[in-house]
Amino acid sequence: MSADAPRLFDVEQVRQDFPILHQEVNGHPLVYLDNAATTQKPQCVIDALVEYYSQYNSNVHRGAHALSDRATAAFEGARRTVAKALNSPSPKQLIWTRGTTEAINLIAQCWARVHLREGDEILVSMLEHHSNIVPWQLAAQAAGAKVKPIPLNEAGEIDLDALREMVSEKTRLISVAHVSNALGSVNPIDRICALARDVGAISVVDGAQGIAHYEVDVQALGCDFYAFSGHKIFGPTGIGALWGRTELLDAMPPYQGGGEMIESVSFDGTTFNGLPYKFEAGTPDIAGAIGLAAAFDYLNQFSREAIQAHEAALLDHCCTRMAGIDGLRRVGNAQHSAAVFSFLVDGTHPADIGMLLDQQGIAIRTGHHCAQPLMSGWSIPGTARASFSLYNTLEEIDVLYEALSKVLTLLR
Ligand code: PMP
Repeated sequence: MSADAPRLFDVEQVRQDFPILHQEVNGHPLVYLDNAATTQKPQCVIDALVEYYSQYNSNVHRGAHALSDRATAAFEGARRTVAKALNSPSPKQLIWTRGTTEAINLIAQCWARVHLREGDEILVSMLEHHSNIVPWQLAAQAAGAKVKPIPLNEAGEIDLDALREMVSEKTRLISVAHVSNALGSVNPIDRICALARDVGAISVVDGAQGIAHYEVDVQALGCDFYAFSGHKIFGPTGIGALWGRTELLDAMPPYQGGGEMIESVSFDGTTFNGLPYKFEAGTPDIAGAIGLAAAFDYLNQFSREAIQAHEAALLDHCCTRMAGIDGLRRVGNAQHSAAVFSFLVDGTHPADIGMLLDQQGIAIRTGHHCAQPLMSGWSIPGTARASFSLYNTLEEIDVLYEALSKVLTLLR
């Protein structure tokens, strides 16, 4: 075997890498099926954080001493690791943010607020997370522009024919999720970005869920911006990134003012630093960036195809088992779906299901999943959602099935 051969994907071994999984919750072995909300961290990510804080904690870019040099090297090395994982032409195109939400707000403030004019339109799909709706509404309101929803079909897929009808010379920006957190639908990003390009609009991808399940190649997708959160891909909370096209980023004004983002400051006028620092005012989340790079290094050991095959098998097994439960219906049934199973059961409320499953050590999420327009559009209060990751097993789905069957006899 060559030194570069991927590590064999063996779920039982993978589980050993995640210390949190080995505990009991409410007297039962933990079954963690809330991965779309946040993923668990492998020991190597935890170790990277501990190593930084215990061995070389120091501020970056400014210290003339050994620890600061080491922290700066690790921090900028992390940027290179993450930029390479996205196939970015340059690491300078990768701006650290607190996560997806901040990355989208950055574009809304620094691109949309500058470019939007009265009557302009921003298109987002009906399945978007609030953080891919509200920042655009704020920017649109200020300019007298409109945020318009792209409809879905019954399976929860973006209706591309409807989108083709909607795009026009008024369209300035199209922003869609790579993968829906509420339904699992994988959107045809390359085609949507091409439609945006055809009318000279900017394309933004909310990659909060996409990054966790797929290898992302920003050049192949053809997007102008890609936003994601570290905590959804086995990294720490409080760190994420915005990838953008250089011409757009260069032309955008800074996001926040402060240290690091300047070239020189005087009361006669301040000049700004170049990319990516222009958008990174203040001391960054140094440990977070280092931890996030450790998460990418962790994932890079495996073939992404092997992980995808495992997750597809989990979803398939879940669909098969759940089909055996009377009155249960999957919400969203996209042809191309990530390992997310949203569901409703006749005569029960999702919140009750979630609470009773928790008593059996099973963590799922219930509610509107920060996608209220989707829920009200489909006239449902919300859903119960099991979302899977590489460390979940077929047996855990069997445990979910048994527990759910028990719960439903209590509820109905
Ligand atoms: N978009 C999607 C599709 C998400 O799933 C999430 C997180 N649930 C977000 C955006 C927001 O991510 P964060 O809270 O990490 O900024």
